[in-house]
Amino acid sequence: MSAGHFDVLIVGGGHAGAQAAVALRQEKFAGSVAILGAEPHPPYERPPLSKEYLAGVKPFERILIRPETFWAERGVSLLLGETVVTVDPVARSVQTGAGQTIGYGELIWATGGEPRRLTCAGHDLAGIHAVRTRADVDRLLGELDAAERIVVIGGGYIGLEASAALSKFGKSVTLVEAQDRVLARVAGEPLSRLYEAEHRAHGVTLMLGVGVSCIEGGGRVTGVRLENGALLPADMVIVGIGIVPAVEPLVQAGAEAGNGVIVDGFCRTSLPHIHAIGDCAAHANRYADGAVIRLESVQNANDQAVTAARDIVGRPVAYEAVPWFWSNQYDLKLQTIGLSAGHDAAVLRGDPAARSFSVVYLRQGRVIAIDAVNAVKDYVQGRALVQAGAAIAPDALADTTRSLKDLLSA
Ligand code: FAD
Repeated sequence: MSAGHFDVLIVGGGHAGAQAAVALRQEKFAGSVAILGAEPHPPYERPPLSKEYLAGVKPFERILIRPETFWAERGVSLLLGETVVTVDPVARSVQTGAGQTIGYGELIWATGGEPRRLTCAGHDLAGIHAVRTRADVDRLLGELDAAERIVVIGGGYIGLEASAALSKFGKSVTLVEAQDRVLARVAGEPLSRLYEAEHRAHGVTLMLGVGVSCIEGGGRVTGVRLENGALLPADMVIVGIGIVPAVEPLVQAGAEAGNGVIVDGFCRTSLPHIHAIGDCAAHANRYADGAVIRLESVQNANDQAVTAARDIVGRPVAYEAVPWFWSNQYDLKLQTIGLSAGHDAAVLRGDPAARSFSVVYLRQGRVIAIDAVNAVKDYVQGRALVQAGAAIAPDALADTTRSLKDLLSA
């Protein structure tokens, strides 16, 4: 059954999809635009799901990316609760799970990813939760009153933020991380150690350097068995072990893919008239030394959306944005600029005990990233250092009497 045609059809109504529609209108694109999304809600912000929304301090209405009326006012059709299952790049159409065919002039694929699930025995017991969508968090909150002992699997940002939010509810929270420190994939050791100490100080138990063997229970989870044989009793398990990019229909249609759909500097996939943006798009990133990576951040989703929109309206500007990210846990506000992966030196700037400091990451003597904790000035001024790949002596970077701005101009 045909359900129409749009000049631009955006698949996925998350950060990237929403921003693509906004950017098209800002670029004065006058054609028809639709966002087709699997979730039943208008586009909303995902970061609060592990922060203020989980903690119950921000209602859903306050995390909408735009007020509900915005989309109709801008002539953007919202086709919600619909999933694209196949893409036909020759006919330029998609087919939805409900069997409808929708034609497009240009397709923007902005589908993010599915939370990676456990595969061990007991992975499908009741009481195991992901934190990716509003529905995930509502389900989790609905079971929270009955849960005293919560095990969080994964010591990345989402696991840590969820632990912080849940410990505030007075729950007994244990976090399990297979690596020997939290945030091992994304941050240097000083930062990991600060966050570990902070979580312990708030009563979170950390089990580091040990993997999960299986989830125990009969119907519902009762515990998490670790690879060292220990059993952690649990009424609820939260799994935060990354995402799998949601790209199957595009791959089936023939798009070049690896860890996500491969896109060029203008977010074009290998298929004509199809762009891909956000968490699902693998691109060569200047700040990763040209390596093809996926970035999971609001910055990347928004900036790639603008890149795709400009390309579609015929004013292409290659994607070169400097990566940034934030995480809030307790009263620690982390702001990250650049990408620290591949650093060969890390300089501590300031004293973690003072709860305001930065870690500056270098590769071959050049600044590639900064993690600023309660240090907004370093974050703001550090951007120019990262963009320039400035070569600055470590002792100068460690000297807090000198601002990062002065170091760049010195
Ligand atoms: P998404 O926002 O995931 O949107 C993709 C949408 O596409 C989803 O609604 C999905 O249902 C839909 N979809 C998937 N497949 C289909 C299909 N076949 N058909 C139709 N629709 C489909 N980033 C930060 O920068 N800072 C933070 O503090 C931060 N905190 C986070 C906390 C949490 C709990 C989570 C989950 C993420 C966080 N992120 C944070 C990451 C950030 O939210 C993501 O990078 C961003 O949402 C990516 O946007 P996206 O549009 O690519 O994907």
